[in-house]
Parts: sequence; structure tokens; C-alpha cells
Amino acid sequence: MSTSFKSAMERLKANIRDVPDFPKKGIVFKDITPILSNGQLFRLAVTIFAERYQRKSVEKIVAIDARGFIFGGALAHYLGIGLTIVRKKGKLPYQSHQHDYELEYGQGTLELHIDGVEKNQRVVIIDDLLATGGTAEAAAKLVEKCGGEIVELAFLVELGFLHGREKLEKYPVFSAITY
Ligand code: AMP
Repeated sequence: MSTSFKSAMERLKANIRDVPDFPKKGIVFKDITPILSNGQLFRLAVTIFAERYQRKSVEKIVAIDARGFIFGGALAHYLGIGLTIVRKKGKLPYQSHQHDYELEYGQGTLELHIDGVEKNQRVVIIDDLLATGGTAEAAAKLVEKCGGEIVELAFLVELGFLHGREKLEKYPVFSAITY
């Protein structure tokens, strides 16, 4: 890892705010909004992804509800490619594929428009944070239902102690910052 890459990561990490007991007791929420509100840091975060994917023939960014939209939108714009959004159930207007996944308590459902990804299209899936991996795995299954090819799953932050990578072992995973 180059020194400048390492110091960039440290600058980003220093601007992720821990919010204890949000959204419920016992969870330490990693708040990335201080990065978003600083123009240099936001650009830095997006540039890390852009440099990684600009020569990998990626054809579509699939961004996960909701903070994934922020990085996914900026990344797709930078790369000059399309963006597709994975949303929680009931939010997408058109015919959609659905995938159920386990939440800490109960179940959630994610959706993707049936034409959101084309067959064999090369896709990067992006979200702000990888925790247990259930959300990202559901997004990957949706891309596969469309016939897309997953180049990588990308996260700004990974909570390594929750072992989300193990759930995603079928896929390449990249995270900029690990706790
Ligand atoms: P998971 O499915 O457990 O990997 O959870 C990942 C999703 O939940 C992502 O969309 C994150 O934005 C959000 N998330 C889970 N845990 C946290 C956390 N500790 N801090 C911030 N966001 C989180």
C-alpha cells in the first residue's frame, strides 16, 4: 500500500463518526456524513472507487438503498456509466425482482427492476458499509436474477468483526476502510 493511499485512508477514517446505541441499544453506528459534508473527503472517497474500476470494463453501478446511492451515483457519473438502484420493498415503480434476507430481527426484502441490469452486463455493487453481509448478498442475488456479471462488491467501510465477507465468499469484495 502506498504512503499516500494509506494517509488518504487515515483521513477518511478520522472523519467517520461513531454514534453509540443507534438505531438501537448496543449498535455503534458508523456515521459517514462528515465525509460527505467535506468536499475534499467526499471526492477522495469517490476517487478511490473510480481509480479501482476505471479500467475494469464495468458497465453498470448497482447502488444499495440508501447511502449506497450517494457513492454509487457519484461513481457512475465519474465513470460515465449507468446507475441502477436496489431498494427496500415497495419503493420501485416498475416490475421488479425480489430477494428476502435476514435482518437482525426478522426479515427484509430488497428489489431491483427487471431491466435494471442486462444479461452479462458487468456490474459493481456498492454500499457505504458491510456489516453481516445480508444486504449485499441480497443485492448480488438480484443482479444474478437479471443475468448480470458481478465484477466486485465495493464498500467504503467494512466491520470485519461481523464476518460479512464470509457470507459473500462467492464474490470479490473490496472495502476502503476496515474496523
Ligand atoms: P448488513 O446487511 O448487516 O451487512 O448491513 C449493511 C447495511 O446496513 C448497510 O446498508 C449499512 O448502511 C447498514 N449498517 C449496518 N450496520 C451499520 C453500522 N454499524 N453503521 C452504519 N450502517 C450500518
